[in-house]
Amino acid sequence: MFKKILIANRGEIACRVIKTCKKMGIATVAVYSDADKEALHVQMADEAVHIGAAPSAQSYLLADKIVEACKQTGAEAVHPGYGFLSEKREFQEKLAASGITFIGPDAHAIFAMGDKIESKKLAKAAGVSTVPGYMGVIKDADEAVKIAKEIGYPVMIKASAGGGGKGMRLAWNDLQAHEGFISATNEAKSSFADDRVFIEKYIEQPRHIEIQVIGDAHGSVIYLGERECSIQRRHQKVIEEAPSPFLTEAVRKAMGEQAVALAKAVDYKSAGTVEFIVDAKRNFYFLEMNTRLQVEHPVTELITGLDLVELMIRVAYGEKLPLTQKDVKLSGWAMEARVYAEDPYRNFMPSIGRLTRYIPPAEGPNVRVDTGVYEGGEISMYYDPMIAKLCSYGPVRELAISNMRQALDEYYIRGLSHNIPFLAALMAHPRFVKGELTTNFIAEEYPDGFRTEDLPVEDPRLLVAVAAFVKQKLVERACSISGQMPGHEVTPGNEWVVVFNGTNYPYKISAIEGGYALEMGGPTITITSDWSIGQPLFRGVVNDDNKHHIVVQVDRKGQGYQLFHNGSLANVVVYSPRGAELAALMPVKAAPDMSKYLLSPMPGLLVSVAVAEGQDVKSGEVLAVVEAMKMENILRAERDGVIAKVHAKAGDSLMVDQKIIEFAD
Ligand code: ADP
Ligand code: ADP
Ligand code: MG
Repeated sequence: MFKKILIANRGEIACRVIKTCKKMGIATVAVYSDADKEALHVQMADEAVHIGAAPSAQSYLLADKIVEACKQTGAEAVHPGYGFLSEKREFQEKLAASGITFIGPDAHAIFAMGDKIESKKLAKAAGVSTVPGYMGVIKDADEAVKIAKEIGYPVMIKASAGGGGKGMRLAWNDLQAHEGFISATNEAKSSFADDRVFIEKYIEQPRHIEIQVIGDAHGSVIYLGERECSIQRRHQKVIEEAPSPFLTEAVRKAMGEQAVALAKAVDYKSAGTVEFIVDAKRNFYFLEMNTRLQVEHPVTELITGLDLVELMIRVAYGEKLPLTQKDVKLSGWAMEARVYAEDPYRNFMPSIGRLTRYIPPAEGPNVRVDTGVYEGGEISMYYDPMIAKLCSYGPVRELAISNMRQALDEYYIRGLSHNIPFLAALMAHPRFVKGELTTNFIAEEYPDGFRTEDLPVEDPRLLVAVAAFVKQKLVERACSISGQMPGHEVTPGNEWVVVFNGTNYPYKISAIEGGYALEMGGPTITITSDWSIGQPLFRGVVNDDNKHHIVVQVDRKGQGYQLFHNGSLANVVVYSPRGAELAALMPVKAAPDMSKYLLSPMPGLLVSVAVAEGQDVKSGEVLAVVEAMKMENILRAERDGVIAKVHAKAGDSLMVDQKIIEFAD
């Protein structure tokens, strides 16, 4: 076996590959940029080589630097992870020229599948079902309209070199086809330096279902079931699961066999993924093949019991696959949620910064966390803002979902915004729970973006009980402090009022075994827990008519607490009855009215301001463009109005919530 492997990647995937190497007794080499000196993958590896500046084009994308690092450390093989150089044929060739093994498919397979037009032709020739459409390169917008009409609307205009959801436009009519051709071409040129686009039929009510394949150098290729990745935002996956709740055994087999046929057609010898789009009648069509380890591979590992990275390393070394198709058994259900540093309430704007507190849920048979960060570490603006991939397992889908919900409740992240509220809402969404998925799920269910109203609603008394428990522990501690001034000792009261999101919940409390009983009208509520003061996670059991196992994140805030549960953040304060009466009389400090300002939704660079003082603007008009994390974000007017003042100018670097424009009253 290889003695030393270099991992040409960063973040969670580099850490994940290192874990398997360790298990196999293989020494590891990490590479890192200026921004990653203290990154987790560097700490985990046996050795680390600095390869350049923070921007990936000056470090992780430099094939020569990686080859040099292999020579310097004596690494015999390279695992590329996903993204970066994983699907760059030139990288593969450079390694081969230096006698270093690439842990992935051969260059010719990467090349054949790297281009969407070519791979579609190849798939068709291998007997794989492909999306109806035109497989040639289109020369201009007029030709695009003509072809779109022939195919029949709706159509998808796609960059042949595309990836990561870029360079893709949906068109329902001639005008959209015309505009879509132009914008897809431009995006393809700027993202992939290749402006070729093609057109295919848009499959309606589409589900994204993909087949994991793996082959060896001895001609054997098998499939390891499917993953459904229909929960996407802007063609980027958010939730993935295995198996798919939609496939029948017969369709799974047909898709698996076609995926294997395609892999065999290019002599595929590693792990790869054949992506299909599936319509409402379970017709399936080839989309593309990703010739690398996929982000969402853990869900396949959870239901097959296999370690895909280990298999990749073994077949790259020349070993035969240790199993055949009939040894592949799928058991149970797995979910993956991509935890991102982004603000779901601000149109998913990326959020960068330091993780001041970071406590992932404990791993076990039902929970897996693939992460590349740690408490005190930083999510930098240079790379993907992924914090972790959170996976859950259960014998059936329902239990995989409830395990995921609990793991999300336990995931404690402070210091930057994250999408856990959104993930929690998805996991509780009745349509998601029923498995009625399409790639339009998020756009259809959250048409105006994600708002606090979209969070799952629960009985507030559960959190009231938690607040009462926490308060009682604090009261008991205060009472137990000795040496207090005579006549001023703290004595435990038993009547309190929880003010929870503006509503009063009076209760009487008494101690029971392991917790407390609360009288608050209706049946007695009991709450038991071994929580003690200072722990960020409260785990307990609340019993009213039903038994609820509940995990709540507890932070002290002002004179009360912030409770985070099920994606929602609630503010609670516990008063004595007299205190509650007085608190009700306190004037509320009104938040300043910021509605007449356009505020920067994130830290970034103000690229341009499209309006001037005194100008009339209509709802939807572009006001300014802010760039952050290599993405341009267009800020538009939310209603009609007049510009009173422009507070910032192009070229300014903005802080979050900094004023850009002020509207007249
Ligand atoms: P997956 O299906 O595994 O999620 P994606 O196609 O979304 O794969 O891409 C995985 C990672 O690779 C993402 O970080 C994505 O941005 C990056 N990526 C994919 N294709 C390209 C490409 N052609 N150029 C640059 N990055 C890419
Ligand atoms: P990428 O290389 O960016 O991953 P894909 O071809 O895999 O590009 O497409 C990404 C996503 O776009 C799919 O998962 C699907 O949601 C959507 N999509 C692509 N082609 C079609 C199509 N013909 N009909 C419907 N949806 C499509
Ligand atoms: Mg894809």
